[in-house]
Amino acid sequence: MTKDIVKDKVRGILNNYLQMNNHRKTSERFAILDAVYDMKGHFSLDELGETMESQNFRVSRATLYNTMRLFIELRLVVRHRFIGQTKYEACYNNEDHIHQICTVCGAVTEIESEAITNLIADTKLQRFRKDGFSLYIYGVCSRCQTKISRERNKLKTKKQDNR
Ligand SMILES: [Zn+2]
Ligand SMILES: [Zn+2]
Repeated sequence: MTKDIVKDKVRGILNNYLQMNNHRKTSERFAILDAVYDMKGHFSLDELGETMESQNFRVSRATLYNTMRLFIELRLVVRHRFIGQTKYEACYNNEDHIHQICTVCGAVTEIESEAITNLIADTKLQRFRKDGFSLYIYGVCSRCQTKISRERNKLKTKKQDNR
């Protein structure tokens, strides 16, 4: 699915929801939705606000927050609670990846695994309708591994020097 098609689909979902619930169709909500689907990967509310501001679109933090809550409800956005930070992510047509979370620096990277995606699709759930999934693998990123082993080596040579 190309980005334009995804954007059309999510706009349609928001449009339907607003229509069915007799909400006003403020252009603000659609602008935020567009901005969300233009963001790359995970982002904080502040990052989203700054990006919109740089495009001369000012939205209050309260509006952003409330709109994101609506988007989460409509399954257009997922909220991640990564280590020490809350991040959002556009999830329509983008939920089949796995997050690698570094427990030292908090960096989050993504990988794709068709095997796991298929496995979850085939998993029998109990009295539950699946909407999507998020998977987190905790560990240490390669940058932190290098740093840790460098510091370990330093400590070793210090000990040897003291002999
Ligand atoms: Zn992600
Ligand atoms: Zn790290």
